Amino acid sequence: MKRITSICLLLLMALGLNAQKTIIHAGKLIDGKSNEVATSVSIIIEGNTIIAVEKGYSKGAKGDAIIDLKNKTVMPGFMDMHVHIESQSNPNTQLNEYIMNEADVAYDAQMYAQKTLMAGFTTVRDLGGTGVNVALKKAINAGKVVGPRIYTAEKTIATTGGHGDPTNGARYDLMGDPGPDQGVINSEEEARKAVRQRYKNGADVIKITATGGVLSVAKDGQGPQFKMDELKGIVETAKEYGMVTAAHAHGDEGMRRAVEAGINTIEHGTFMSEATMDLMIQKGTYYVPTISAGEYVVGRAKIPGFFPAVVAKKALEVGPQISDTFAKAYKRGVKIVFGTDAGVYPHGDNAGEFVFMVKAGMKPMEAIQSATMAAAELLRVQDLFGSIEAGKMADIVAVDGDPLQDISVLKEVKFVMKDGKVFKQ
Ligand SMILES: [Zn+2]
Repeated sequence: MKRITSICLLLLMALGLNAQKTIIHAGKLIDGKSNEVATSVSIIIEGNTIIAVEKGYSKGAKGDAIIDLKNKTVMPGFMDMHVHIESQSNPNTQLNEYIMNEADVAYDAQMYAQKTLMAGFTTVRDLGGTGVNVALKKAINAGKVVGPRIYTAEKTIATTGGHGDPTNGARYDLMGDPGPDQGVINSEEEARKAVRQRYKNGADVIKITATGGVLSVAKDGQGPQFKMDELKGIVETAKEYGMVTAAHAHGDEGMRRAVEAGINTIEHGTFMSEATMDLMIQKGTYYVPTISAGEYVVGRAKIPGFFPAVVAKKALEVGPQISDTFAKAYKRGVKIVFGTDAGVYPHGDNAGEFVFMVKAGMKPMEAIQSATMAAAELLRVQDLFGSIEAGKMADIVAVDGDPLQDISVLKEVKFVMKDGKVFKQ
């Protein structure tokens, strides 16, 4: 018995020594960290890990697989820090909450996840859904369905009647009085409970709706919706459970309070004042602009009946402003991370955000880094993701042409590898 075990061990060692590697020949490499573009590079991958990045085109050993991307620009897999993977806005959005079963949502979510990965986004932060997002994350991680790596907030945390209260706009007998369990809070104590419940349900991050929002069926799109003690309850508890926090915010007072309380990211940031920008710089708060969502809702609000009237009005006020705020915050030096609000606009069009960012004044290289290294830092996974270098997970994408000359080429991703596995070639 002992002898058989040692023979097995020897066999395993021999196999390990000759493990087949995958070698990517990259014509151009933007590695997510360096501001320079490297040319004619080999990325050596073993299993799901990058083990080396070498100058020149390595032939490797016998049996190694070579992937020829010599006429492509190769980059780390993109990371979108604001998506809603379960849904996509449409004229029936409000009705769908009452006619779709969880299983219906799950099939849709799986389709959206696949589109997202095929667009080159290997990691997303999902900022709120119904709980299907947690199940989808597990199924993707287990290799049962295809999609990006998901860090999810599960259900957002809101106040009664606030943006994200799940029964806004419902008939009274269906409205009920949702509480911390469903992510609705009205005190510091309930705030803590809602965070702990999200943790228990399998959330990785916490998302709150610090001000009114555009797509909720409620009048107010901008006012603050949490008291300071409630915000502190959320941020402190999330910190204790090791979770990053995000605050949806359009109006300035609500976002100022969230930043003051120690929130990690401000989403949308539509009417952000210069004073709040400075507070964010001082506190190291990230700004996730989601220009795509702003541009998209303006277009839809002009189609009669696409949104309820109360929503269309807010969309026309909020939508056009985000790009200008992004330009100001960028110039002022606020830390910016890529996020789009996919689900408000169709999933898979995430890379359109790069075009909006560059149009508003950001350098193309910085826009790419905001969706790679900066996003990995925000999620505190910079040791595993965000760049192409030895020791990182093999999340790699490639496009034709040069994104530094024409950023729109990122909308046509031609090659996608996640976890060392090729999903698109
Ligand atoms: Zn959102």
